[in-house]
Formats: sequence, C-alpha cells, structure tokens
Amino acid sequence: MPSQLEVEDISVAFGGHRALDGVTLRAERGHVTGLIGPNGAGKSTLFDVISGLRKPSTGTVCLDGHDVTRAGPARRARHGLARTFQRLELFGRLSVRDNLLVAAELGPERRHAGRVADEIIDRLDLAHLADTTADALSTGIGRLVEVARALAVRPNLILLDEPAAGQDAQETELFAALLRALAEDGTAVLLVEHDMELVMNVCDEVYVLDLGRIIASGPPDVIRRDESVLAAYLGQ
Ligand code: ADP
Ligand code: MG
Repeated sequence: MPSQLEVEDISVAFGGHRALDGVTLRAERGHVTGLIGPNGAGKSTLFDVISGLRKPSTGTVCLDGHDVTRAGPARRARHGLARTFQRLELFGRLSVRDNLLVAAELGPERRHAGRVADEIIDRLDLAHLADTTADALSTGIGRLVEVARALAVRPNLILLDEPAAGQDAQETELFAALLRALAEDGTAVLLVEHDMELVMNVCDEVYVLDLGRIIASGPPDVIRRDESVLAAYLGQ
C-alpha cells in the first residue's frame, strides 16, 4: 500500500540559491511525522511544494499513490490534503462549536455534523469553551481549536507549520493529545515545529532538514543523539 504522502527527489531554486536539494520523505497514515531543522532550512518551502503552491524544478509528490506534482491545490484537497498556516484562520465571531460545525459540514460525515462537532469538543475537553467566540480565545487555545477543526473534516494528510507557537505548557500538552488523536483517526500528520520536546514526545519518526537537504531521519530517540543533527543546530 502506498504511503499517504510520498515526496521524491524534490528540488527548488530561488535564483541561484537551492532552497531544496533532492528531498525525499514519506508520511504514513496513523503516524505523526516530524520535520525539523534550523531557520531557512527549507521547511516552509517544502510545505508549499506539497500543497501545490510552488512547483519544484525536479521530483514528484504523490498523495495516496496519485502523482499530483502537476496538480493545483484544489485537486490535492480532493485527495484529502489539509494545511494550517502560521496565522490563525478561525471565524472570529463564531463560537468554538460553530467553527467545528462549519468544518464538519465540509467533511464526509456532513449529515451528522452536530454529532461530529460535539464528539471533538468532548474528546479535547473543550466543553467549557464551546460557546466562546473564537475572537475571545487566547492565541494558544485558538491554535488548538484551529487544528481541532481539521479533525472535523477528517483529512487523510494534514500539514502543520509551527502550530504550537504561542502555547503555554498546559496548552502544548492538550495539543500533543490532539495530534495523537488525529493520527489514531488514520490521518497522516506532518509537523514542522520548533518545540523540540513536543516533537520528540509526539512523533513516530522525524526528518531533519538542513540547507535544503535531509541530513537524518528516524525515530525520535535516534535523532536526539545524531551528531550531524546536533552540529546543524549548534552551527546556527
Ligand atoms: P524554513 O521554513 O525552514 O525556515 P524556508 O522554506 O522559509 O525555510 O526558506 C528556505 C530558504 O529559501 C531560505 O534561504 C529562504 O531565505 C529562501 N526563500 C524562501 N522563500 C523564498 C522566496 N519566495 N524567494 C527567495 N528566497 C526564498
Ligand atoms: Mg518556515
């Protein structure tokens, strides 16, 4: 069975500068896959390539075995791809529950959208915030609700670019549970994140990008001790 995401030999150049140089990685359903690396390593550029916002000069992107290298973002969404951006994108004047409801109405269980929204609220212990408008949430909880909304759409693959930025310790803990819940639902989660403890706690495997190349990949306890990874971070 193909992986939900297969990225093969991707290169991207900005002028003479190689932002990505032969990047190959996979993300599996049921797994949280981490993508880490120093600032400027190429993480966001790779997300742009995967989501169809930037065409690579070499390589292929396959979603669930379908080559989408030449497809636009809309066709990729039909293969179950979802993405969050670095700024918040909730409907500010709607309640938390209504934000989830809107998403559930786009998903495969649209006829039971209310039930889907309530199940997610329960699962993430958000009942006390269900009627709060998104505008009134702290940044950290807002980020959590934004990703919770992705649960309601039941995506096959979700790309998260630094989703835990601005969260306190308690919010980060809730967030880790949310990422595991997404994976347990059968979603492939690809996570770019600076909070190393979160990455090491929540990921099944981790890829390390430095200067546009994958310099290491493997389970968190191996990556943690990898000399080339330590060197890449110390050289920052
Ligand atoms: P990361 O997300 O890992 O911090 P980026 O993917 O944002 O890294 O950037 C990778 C490299 O590509 C950096 O050297 C950055 O300056 C460069 N870069 C990113 N976007 C552009 C762009 N639109 N035009 C020119 N250079 C870019
Ligand atoms: Mg980035």
